[in-house]
Amino acid sequence: MLRETLYRHFGFSSFRPGQLQALQTVLGGRDMLVVMPTGAGKSLCYQLPALLSPRPTLVISPLIALMKDQVDALSQRSIAATFINSSLDLAEQVRRLEGLARGAFRLIYVAPERLRSAAFRAAVKQVSIYRCAVDEAHCISQWGHDFRPDYRLLGDFLDELGRPPVVALTATATKKVRGDIIEQLGLREPDTLVTGYNRPNLRFTVQHTPSAKAKLAALRAILGAMPSQTPGIVYVGRRRDADMVAAFITAECGRRAIPYHAGLGSEERSQRQSDFMSGRAAIVVATNAFGMGVDKPNVRFVIHYSIPGTLEAYYQEAGRAGRDGKEARCVVLYSPNDAGLQEYFISNDAPSVEELWDLYAQLKRCAGSSTLASATTTQLATGTIIGTNSEVKVRVGLRLLGQVGLIEEMAERQGRRNFRLLEIRSPVDIQTPMAEIYARRDYKRAQLSEVLAYCESRDCRRQQILDYFGDPEPPIATRCCDNCERSLPASYRAIGGSSPLTESILQALASLPVHVSRGTLIEILSGSGELSVQRFAGLTGFGNLAGVGQQRLSSVIDQLIARDVLREDPISRTILVSRCESVPSHGRPAPPVPVFPVTLASSGITETVAETLAYFRDGFSPADIAAERELTESTIYNHLASLIERGAIQVGDVVSDDRRDQIVAAWRAEGSSSHLGPIKQRIPEEIGYGEIRCVLAASLVGSARRTGRQPQP
Ligand code: ADP
Ligand code: MG
Repeated sequence: MLRETLYRHFGFSSFRPGQLQALQTVLGGRDMLVVMPTGAGKSLCYQLPALLSPRPTLVISPLIALMKDQVDALSQRSIAATFINSSLDLAEQVRRLEGLARGAFRLIYVAPERLRSAAFRAAVKQVSIYRCAVDEAHCISQWGHDFRPDYRLLGDFLDELGRPPVVALTATATKKVRGDIIEQLGLREPDTLVTGYNRPNLRFTVQHTPSAKAKLAALRAILGAMPSQTPGIVYVGRRRDADMVAAFITAECGRRAIPYHAGLGSEERSQRQSDFMSGRAAIVVATNAFGMGVDKPNVRFVIHYSIPGTLEAYYQEAGRAGRDGKEARCVVLYSPNDAGLQEYFISNDAPSVEELWDLYAQLKRCAGSSTLASATTTQLATGTIIGTNSEVKVRVGLRLLGQVGLIEEMAERQGRRNFRLLEIRSPVDIQTPMAEIYARRDYKRAQLSEVLAYCESRDCRRQQILDYFGDPEPPIATRCCDNCERSLPASYRAIGGSSPLTESILQALASLPVHVSRGTLIEILSGSGELSVQRFAGLTGFGNLAGVGQQRLSSVIDQLIARDVLREDPISRTILVSRCESVPSHGRPAPPVPVFPVTLASSGITETVAETLAYFRDGFSPADIAAERELTESTIYNHLASLIERGAIQVGDVVSDDRRDQIVAAWRAEGSSSHLGPIKQRIPEEIGYGEIRCVLAASLVGSARRTGRQPQP
């Protein structure tokens, strides 16, 4: 019967995944939250029930521009629908409401700002709405990326309507936002359906690229392996990177890449977008300004030159690959330093209290003896401690001053903004808005650390994405991700998919005779010269992450606390290991276990490396393994290096201590370069490339396992 309705009214012969389940719940009259990606077909989940209901369905939708299209599309299917928003004059609004009352429409689309009018709310109440659909429901949450204060009126409005059944729909809800939607709308025991996030044709990888040089080299290698016309997107964090990377690709990789960012004029932007869409330019190098409405089906790769601020943004951007269902790659070129850029964005998204007062003082100076201040944003910024390079702070600051009742903005004139300085009658509450700003920043930082966790993790990346969205489907894929394609030893996975960094931190903690604070732990790990930590200098963990950078260490520790691997004692502020059993054993790791057989079978890499590992465990030397397996010794060393990198074996098992010291010394002398040639020249002939490779592979892992304090790459 539902299928029949589907075919008769919409012309579709079958339901998309999740639709039927959603429809059954909605038709059953239960409140529901539907979370599915854009394009999955969420609208049907309230449009079809509207056809089977005795009275009209009210749809709250934030995008006035799209409302008309939605209604037109329904009208073409002979479904009686209409909309009411600010584009209509009052008489027309009244006419449509009357039509609604007469039963002329099955669906009525309404913009949330209409709810501000009590008269409008009363009129809708007369109509006796049967069901309410809240589209783009994440707009209700201030934690979402698209907060609309008017959505906050919905909870009360639904009460006024006498609580008709509600279906809320969104593509972009994380756990926190989902909770917010349910709470703010006052949904009653809602059924939540999250589905459709797995994209089996996308393959996810993260490459560790610590410098701009390494990023460009990786980019060149990735592009070099693809035909020259392969369409793809490279996302960058800054406008100047867009220009630089596009120039690099065009000059060095032999394919045409065009930069795209918000600094370009709108004509220029649409020109470039259409160049990319039509294939005249194979590659676009863009900031996050690029993407709205980009629906090019054959994008074969999306490479992130640096990390985005949230996993949601990441998946949104990466998800532009492979819309045609054919295989496509999503690569992050990860450097821990990228976090610095994001952190900069976060901590500069609003002024401090001090900056805010200074801005207020500046307005007063502008006003002189009057109460009217007139200035451009730049002028305001220049005279304050904010300075000219943070217009965001000035804009947010002016809004805050308005919010707390210190100023009132009037119409802009000739590019100058005009403000009236208000009389201060009662104490000004600056704490409340500032607290909100800080809370938002904390949330953004938590979001950022999820991105870092994604990059650092050794677990299935697809699973992490599905977990992030709360999609319970299994992570099935043609080719899943780099982590799945490596077979990880069981002991490694047992610590919760930790990275070498994690392992080093856990081992350092295990080696300490006393509990220490976060700050001290960071000093210890980075081998600081501080007097206060010299007493730890002889221990295993001391300086074993020197060179990683204190900021990054701090962020990794945050993640470990977030994942409950570590915890901070609330009284002593010392860092403790939550799960003692999670400290990796120093013994031999257990044999590799296949993680996702589906992907392992197709990767090919895993089996051969695993076989080398098996021989190696049986005591075969690299030369013996090579002979036994009829492979070159160099290949075997490559396998061993990758096993070292993943923490499956220890560098000391492959390279003797004195040889390692010689390699390390040469590596140092070469300025810590990763070029093997020059290092090789500095060491005795009998030490081969393979051993060098293994020592370099241990760069992060090895330090956690050695016993002395001797430095190592
Ligand atoms: P969302 O709101 O989830 O982004 P829409 O509801 O706008 O997605 O639907 C996206 C497209 O999919 C629309 O063109 C719609 O007509 C189409 N669609 C929805 N359900 C089906 C179906 N069962 N079969 C075929 N096409 C469908
Ligand atoms: Mg939609």
